[in-house]
Amino acid sequence: MCSSGFFDADMSRNALTLELAARPLCGDGGMGTLLLARGMSAGACGMAWNLDRPEDIKAIHGAYHQAGCNLITTNSFGGSRFILETHGRAKDVRDLNLAAARVARAAAGENAWILGDVGPCGDFLEPVGDLTSDEVREAFCEQIEGLVAGGVDAILVETMSDPGEMVIGIEAARISAPNLPVAASYAFQKLPDGRFLTMMGTPVAEAIKRAVDAGAAIVGANCGTSMDLEDYIALCREIVAAAGSAHVIIQPNAGAPQQVDGKTLYLATPEQMAQTASQLLDAGACIVGGCCGTSPAHLAAMAELIGKSRNFGTNNAH
Ligand SMILES: [Zn+2]
Repeated sequence: MCSSGFFDADMSRNALTLELAARPLCGDGGMGTLLLARGMSAGACGMAWNLDRPEDIKAIHGAYHQAGCNLITTNSFGGSRFILETHGRAKDVRDLNLAAARVARAAAGENAWILGDVGPCGDFLEPVGDLTSDEVREAFCEQIEGLVAGGVDAILVETMSDPGEMVIGIEAARISAPNLPVAASYAFQKLPDGRFLTMMGTPVAEAIKRAVDAGAAIVGANCGTSMDLEDYIALCREIVAAAGSAHVIIQPNAGAPQQVDGKTLYLATPEQMAQTASQLLDAGACIVGGCCGTSPAHLAAMAELIGKSRNFGTNNAH
């Protein structure tokens, strides 16, 4: 069973959501390529570095904070026991997530919001797969308890393809982090006919409504498949239309991936990402950051643009 707390709807509208009502904020960018650049081998457990090589993780978070990012996302994307057991680290779920939160806070201090990152469990839920809702919820609760113990300001459930798994992630956050707002971000794919669907075939409006109904204060999209930069603008408009009073977060890849000499490369420039950030704000996004292929250089250009667009407020988050 998940350990529980009392859920108070008013408490989820905390200082972060109040600030978002006043001004847009800049998220951060990709983690994976920066880990590889620091010597992690492909397929290794990036989360283990929260404990094994914390100075490297702190340096990456610090680079994003220096770039002007207001929100720093913990290095805990694969932090549920389902993923960690594939690396033989299932017993370290709590410690690795707690360390993820602590190292992010150590890098950013009190001048940024720390988002506790929760990615997909890595397998299909019933009836498509074998995982039950209860065991996935329990695993997410276990992960989120570690993130909360490490001091995160909000929970980000991201890159979800299955709205059912998204709802379970939001439920787990409301159980294990009852005082923190939840951000819910889907990975959509663009079909040849121009529609956006999750990998499970769910349209935007339905996917977003399910996240809002489950209690997400912030909803949106990151990553995705067959998405050019301009596609994220169109997707953002659809999400804003479906989000009601929830805030909208959009974290695009650095353009659609290109295959160059057998390597997958994301080639959008910082200037192109800043222009995209401007268009996303115009389309109603409140938080804009980056996903695959984005670096501190991209985020610096985006943060400058987002900072300029603010009507009031200071550069300090809190
Ligand atoms: Zn991505």
